[in-house]
Amino acid sequence: MRQEREKIRWKDIRITDSLFGSYVKRVSEKVIPHQWKILNDQLEDSEKTYCIQNFRVAAGELTGERKGVVFQDTDLYKWLESVAYTIAAGQGLEYEPLADEVIDLIGRAQEPDGYLNTYFTVNAPHRKWKNLMEGHELYTAGHMIEAAVAYYEATGKTKFLDIARKNADLIGQVFGRGEGQKRGYPGHQEIELALVKLYRVTGERRYLETARYFIEERGSCPSYFEQEVAERGGFEFFPDFQDYDLAYSQADIPPVQQTKAEGHSVRDMYMCAAMADLAGEYEDEAMLQACRRIWDNMTQKQMYITGGIGSSGFRERFTTDYDLPNATNYSETCASIGLMMFGQRMSAVTGEAFYYDSVELALYNTVLAGINIEGDRYFYVNPLEVVPEFCTAHTYMNHVKPIRQKWFSIACCPPNVARTLASLGQYIYARDGEELVIHQFISSEVQTEAGGHNVELRMDSTLMQDGKVKISIRSEADTKLKIRIPGYAVNWTIRAGEADLDPVVEKGYLKVTAKAGEQTLVLDLDIHPHWVAANDLVRADAGKAALMKGPFVYCLEEKDNGNLLSQVCVEANQKIQEAAPAEGLVGEIPTLSYPGVRVKNVGLGDNLYGALQIEKEKTQLTAIPYCLWNNRGEGEMLVWHRVLI
Ligand SMILES: [Zn+2]
Repeated sequence: MRQEREKIRWKDIRITDSLFGSYVKRVSEKVIPHQWKILNDQLEDSEKTYCIQNFRVAAGELTGERKGVVFQDTDLYKWLESVAYTIAAGQGLEYEPLADEVIDLIGRAQEPDGYLNTYFTVNAPHRKWKNLMEGHELYTAGHMIEAAVAYYEATGKTKFLDIARKNADLIGQVFGRGEGQKRGYPGHQEIELALVKLYRVTGERRYLETARYFIEERGSCPSYFEQEVAERGGFEFFPDFQDYDLAYSQADIPPVQQTKAEGHSVRDMYMCAAMADLAGEYEDEAMLQACRRIWDNMTQKQMYITGGIGSSGFRERFTTDYDLPNATNYSETCASIGLMMFGQRMSAVTGEAFYYDSVELALYNTVLAGINIEGDRYFYVNPLEVVPEFCTAHTYMNHVKPIRQKWFSIACCPPNVARTLASLGQYIYARDGEELVIHQFISSEVQTEAGGHNVELRMDSTLMQDGKVKISIRSEADTKLKIRIPGYAVNWTIRAGEADLDPVVEKGYLKVTAKAGEQTLVLDLDIHPHWVAANDLVRADAGKAALMKGPFVYCLEEKDNGNLLSQVCVEANQKIQEAAPAEGLVGEIPTLSYPGVRVKNVGLGDNLYGALQIEKEKTQLTAIPYCLWNNRGEGEMLVWHRVLI
């Protein structure tokens, strides 16, 4: 089994892409200051978070109760993680003094033994580590550790890392199979992947061992969670967990025995990301096989065409194979971010490129849809079909919002999108031994070292316009490149100057050597727009087709096509024209234009039902990338078109 691929340093990568570059810029210019105001409760018309205030209370600098959800601290940690990446990219240097100040505050809120959690320190010191199932203590610690590692990597400063180590050392003492240790594990996974990161940055193997312990202990019998509930006689933070089942948090059977994506989708993805890491670190074949089974089940039977996962609005969870409703689904933005994390690690540990097809799908569709182009509104839930007036509060549709929101009382998604965009470079480049690997075709520059010499690489991608990716390399010696060939590119060519190359393709990667000095390679990927159908077992998509171009899923919006999009039909494999980008959107991505038919029921007047009488009306349709929907006002949206027989 392979070892983990090496990450390129954050500060060595710059994103210059017309689409992603605009979002990355928004993170430093808009998202970070916007979120800072929210953490400080300085934003009008937004629910209070009490986040910074809670740390002041925990540090003993303010009196009063600690408020907000039990895992509110993670908002600050994810903010700090985004800040770290933007500092590394040279775009957020002005935030460094603010970050240092708030890290000092975190340090003051940490207890002498390393314990750090504002809820339990202030409100329930006697309840520490007593409600792992609901209390999110280990989840919160995980986000703190991730932020601390990122901040150390970005700035070289050790203060935050020292706080994290002290906390991780405490966790390593409290939990384990030794005498006097608790045999617990987190209700919401996250600490495991964070401890792997902490091990990789410190070289301290005990952090890796604790991560492995949490995964291996999970799901053991008798159930730790059931014992906890019995001891306290009920539920503490989430009373609606009365019918809690262990599969919800993947704790019904040990993870290594699991065969499918199950339960709360974000928990599952964070767990699987750690399992893939551990499979590589320990060369654990059984753990890798479990990861493969869960990945295959998820991507082949439970994933939306947009890379969304977790179709149930009830408890944010996976349901069963092929159950993929389009209007009532959940598909949390964080779950697709988790899918990206899992896929990235599976590719690293197996050396196979195809995992990145789903990573790319999630990134280009659900994750990017999670934020508006201005960078101050967010989707938590990502439906594939919306009728705004049907998104009614206090009903089964309560979770579906027809417009992006300023913030959420449970605000996992906005800072998660921000940290993902701010660290986008990790999904584009990696180092694999002497080879420099390219996974995504997002315009960017990288200055790094590969095969023992310096390499400057510039990628100019017009993938979304014409499928071309120009890769210019300047290096002191020959540079070995590994370029992922995406699954959607049935045909492709690569040229060096005027010469067509005939490179080796291995595990989905094209292998090519760029000569010393300056060389330009041009990769040409076939990404013509095409119609996609779903397996007949996906009842929700029966007789329907969706439009894709490369990794982008396209959708119809009311603004371009009028309302009652449910009337719209297309003929099978209707020819598609590419047209100018829609006004007011970013990225210069062509719209797609094609003829359609509106099938109308006529003669009903105001009656709800009546005799079937159909009229067909020809229409010309315009589709935009799904990730950009709801950036030009509220209205209907539709991904899956009915197909006219
Ligand atoms: Zn979320």
